[in-house]
Amino acid sequence: MSLQCVIIAGGLATRLRPLTEKIPKVLLEVGGRPFLDHQLTWLARRGVTDVVLCLGYLGEQVEAFAGDGKRWGLTVRYSHDGATPLGTAGAVRQALDRGLLAERFLLTWGDSFLPIDPRGVFERFERSGLPALMTVFRNEGRLDASNATLEGPLARYDKKQGAAKGYRAIDYGLMAFRREVFERLVPAGTPKDLAAVCGALSDADELAGDEAYLRFFEIGSHQGLAEADAFFSRGGPPRGLLVLDRDGVLDAMILDEKGGEDSPQHVDQVRILDGAPLALRLLHDAGYTLVLATNQPAAAKGKTPRAQLEAVHARVLELTQAAGGRISSSHICWHRHEDGCACRKPRPGLLLEALAAWPGHDLSDSWMVGDRPTDVQAGKAAGLKTAKLGAEAQADWTGTSLESFARFLLTTRGFF
Ligand SMILES: [Mg+2]
Ligand SMILES: [Zn+2]
Repeated sequence: MSLQCVIIAGGLATRLRPLTEKIPKVLLEVGGRPFLDHQLTWLARRGVTDVVLCLGYLGEQVEAFAGDGKRWGLTVRYSHDGATPLGTAGAVRQALDRGLLAERFLLTWGDSFLPIDPRGVFERFERSGLPALMTVFRNEGRLDASNATLEGPLARYDKKQGAAKGYRAIDYGLMAFRREVFERLVPAGTPKDLAAVCGALSDADELAGDEAYLRFFEIGSHQGLAEADAFFSRGGPPRGLLVLDRDGVLDAMILDEKGGEDSPQHVDQVRILDGAPLALRLLHDAGYTLVLATNQPAAAKGKTPRAQLEAVHARVLELTQAAGGRISSSHICWHRHEDGCACRKPRPGLLLEALAAWPGHDLSDSWMVGDRPTDVQAGKAAGLKTAKLGAEAQADWTGTSLESFARFLLTTRGFF
């Protein structure tokens, strides 16, 4: 499925002079590579297929660098400002008039790196039924002056008066639009700022809101540039694989008739643990690939029909991904201990299967996360780092919940 993202990168970047006198801002080196390289790499990794760059000052250098986009597996096309600067919304309208825009598209800024899943944002935009969507970050005044807030399914946006209105959040920098918005609100050939368009959409209750959870990086100022450089010099967005045990990590164990702990055996017994959906969302937005590895022997023991266990699994997947996290694959051992299979944890078969299914991950930042010593054993046998929920284990990390593990990982990697 194609997914288009418009990137606005036409500014003069006066705040970064003299760095930007001869080099456009998006080509400044950050962590040893041009900033645009990091941005295109991320968009391609997370499902964008088609990029339209709206360019102005020194735009020919940007086009010379990115070319047709094949290097990233993208199609990249260009819309250069003419003699009269059209403002950010005017530039989008011009790209529209040149026939470059899809009927629905994402839009972001050339100077921002946003750890969020653009395809997930686009899917939520489609579900909203509204003509536009704004991602919003609860900055509490930290990263810039507040100009937005979430109100039910809507975003409220007021660039100038937002702080005075008591807004505590900020426009995160990724939006989605129907093309008709620009036909309707931006006259061709007339300079107009995107902030005015978003303000009008907000006033008309036409702007859907979507919360972003991880801090953004922007290179609009020297301080922002230094922070982005530090982030990308440490490796940027993670490329690790996280293998998660299911029961006791995502969903609660149940008590069986003898008072022992068991996996849920029926959909009605599925109870998702606090914070698990948010944790999946945070880890996915940051860049990790998430998979499940779980032992489910009840059908082989003749206790529960296999179809019932599969319904339980589908229910856990549905509920835990509701906040926008993604589980890329599930690896399940259906055997009993006495079957002597290679996949039942503590053996590493399921984990090795997951590693083979998702090649190219960063093994130094790949983890097995479980609530049992057998999970830790399997993780070690597969060469992964290990995290254990609950007490007493020889794991690399121990804590109370998947959310606390997510916050630990992402804090050390500069996302909070
Ligand atoms: Mg477990
Ligand atoms: Zn097995």
